[in-house]
Amino acid sequence: MAEQKPKNQDIDFTIIGQGLAGSLLAYCLLNAGKRIAIISDGKQSASRVAAGLINPITGQRFVLAEKTPAMLKLASEFYTAIETKLGIRCYFPTPLIRLFNNEKEKVFYEKRLLQPHYTPFFSTKPLSEQQLVNAPFGGVIQLQAAWLDTNTLLDALADYFISHDRITHLPAQTNSQTTTIHCEGYKIKYNPLFSWLPLQPAHGEIIHCESKSKLAPEITVKSKWLLPTSQNTCRIGATFEPHISEPTQQEQSKNALLSFVSSLKKDNEFNLLSHQAGIRPATLDKQPFIGFHPHDSNHAVFNGFGSRGSLLIPWYAKLFTETLVNQSKIPAEADIQRYESLCV
Ligand SMILES: Cc1cc2nc3c(=O)[nH]c(=O)nc-3n(C[C@H](O)[C@H](O)[C@H](O)COP(=O)(O)OP(=O)(O)OC[C@H]3O[C@@H](n4cnc5c(N)ncnc54)[C@H](O)[C@@H]3O)c2cc1C
Repeated sequence: MAEQKPKNQDIDFTIIGQGLAGSLLAYCLLNAGKRIAIISDGKQSASRVAAGLINPITGQRFVLAEKTPAMLKLASEFYTAIETKLGIRCYFPTPLIRLFNNEKEKVFYEKRLLQPHYTPFFSTKPLSEQQLVNAPFGGVIQLQAAWLDTNTLLDALADYFISHDRITHLPAQTNSQTTTIHCEGYKIKYNPLFSWLPLQPAHGEIIHCESKSKLAPEITVKSKWLLPTSQNTCRIGATFEPHISEPTQQEQSKNALLSFVSSLKKDNEFNLLSHQAGIRPATLDKQPFIGFHPHDSNHAVFNGFGSRGSLLIPWYAKLFTETLVNQSKIPAEADIQRYESLCV
């Protein structure tokens, strides 16, 4: 007999939003044997614009955060397991060429080289002349980077949820037994239940191009990045404009990205295929927003993954599932309790 669409009284959790946060949390809860419904508004999410880069070493100072190696290991296992289960390919470990923007960055990198826990993240292989075009300060090959094809993953998960009758495009009725988990990305700022959380949304744009000549497989990062998605196509990004509040495409951003790629790959030509904009759900303290509403425990939030959703969401989806299923503690750095005084 075909599985029935869940009736409200059959639902343990209603998830609002079907970006990476809502989808991966739903996947974890289903795997934990919970009954879920997902409400999607069908609108484009930041997750579908994102390049899905996973770069363990971040910023001008080449920082490797304490939990990053563990998060990286979990993300790799998590995405690989989904690939096997759903019969897709969406997770691509790829070396990353980091070109220094200035002398200061080079000095930071050289200091990191002296710290043994950084060693597994840097190749000792020197960059070739071709890789060093327009890089007067030099660069390094970073290891353990990857990229996630978010569109392939989200499409496959949507099919998986449909096959389990877990998606509705209608506003669902909930009962007192159902916990509603809000995974609305930057649109949480319009949600009266959680608009008190200090979100710092950051507009960003990327372009998708076709290249005339064959591209090397590595990701290249300078002030911006180039991510080859096939031998002749690539994504180039991303801009960062915190003052633009809705995901609109800007002509000057497109031109800036095109001129970045032309200066990086002088001997190649690029034709624009598409241009997209999205809003990163970034937060004041750069930590996620996870947990229950202080005055209404039927409502919870799973959001605030900023520019690092591909790395952070698997980690926190697993931990929050443990909270929802076994009442384990939410990690303090992510628990919205830290902002409880703002909720009036
Ligand atoms: C230009 C750009 C580049 C990026 N590059 C990277 C990158 O390289 N690596 C990386 O890790 N991250 C990157 N990010 C960040 C990444 O996109 C986010 O961390 C992540 O996708 C956030 O996922 P989310 O599910 O929280 O939000 P979203 O993906 O925005 O999903 C939220 C969903 O909820 C829906 N929704 C909202 N309100 C309602 C409602 N009331 N009812 C039903 N549905 C609702 C929305 O329409 C949306 O579909 C980038 C972001 C941008 C904009």
